[in-house]
Amino acid sequence: MAGSSSPSAVRVGVLFPDLLGTYGDGGNATVLTQRLHWRGIPTEVVTVAGGDIAPDSCDVYLVGGGEDGPQTQAARELIESRALHRAVDRGAAVLAVCAGMQILGHRFPDATGADRTGLGLLDCETVRVDRPRAVGELLTPTAGVTGPDGVHHDLGVLTGFENHAGRTVVGGGAQRLGAVEVGEGNGDGSEGVVVGRVVGTYLHGPVLARNPRLADLLLGWVVGPDALGPLDDHEVEALRADRVRAARAGELAPRRSWRDLLRRS
Ligand code: GLN
Repeated sequence: MAGSSSPSAVRVGVLFPDLLGTYGDGGNATVLTQRLHWRGIPTEVVTVAGGDIAPDSCDVYLVGGGEDGPQTQAARELIESRALHRAVDRGAAVLAVCAGMQILGHRFPDATGADRTGLGLLDCETVRVDRPRAVGELLTPTAGVTGPDGVHHDLGVLTGFENHAGRTVVGGGAQRLGAVEVGEGNGDGSEGVVVGRVVGTYLHGPVLARNPRLADLLLGWVVGPDALGPLDDHEVEALRADRVRAARAGELAPRRSWRDLLRRS
């Protein structure tokens, strides 16, 4: 349905929620479908379990976060089927969160720390580093993306939480979503990786519930921006302001470990 005003349903592909569903990213599908429903645009959610063949016919795909072992299986299945490669070649949009982003890069570490080949849809690679796991609020104050059509989309503040061991090195063929103010993100002061209509991020939340502009960026790529009338987001904006304030105040920073506390007592 990319770029058309066709009344056919927007197909939202949710890839492997049984493998990559640890952090509640399945809520991103609810956000996309609800924001389309409010605008009178029909939707169809296609949920693909691990072991099932992913269709290449969806308009937008969602890949969530998960543990190192299941993410390796998800990568293997998508490399074998090449369904996501074909969909992206046709112009489908993709949102890949954390483990999802890592497997869409060129390589990522598996549960043993060994390098695994990724899908290569994002110009990045994820490595293990000798640093603590990144856990806590993640805030990117001035995010933005330039789409394949050259149009720049201001995403404003991106807010969410992160929980990952890997760090992601972004290549010259990719954009970043923005610079990190609170948290770790990619690990070099930036957050997110974007190539064409494929968006990777370390933000959970679910990210689209906390950041409706990012949801509308993906939907605009699918149905065309003119099909997306304004919505009343004042409630979510109030929640966002609260989360941003808390992240800046360090209220949601991870507590010190018990070992740290015992050491100091
Ligand atoms: N297993 C990956 C890591 O720890 C991704 C974690 C996640 O998806 N939140 O880096």
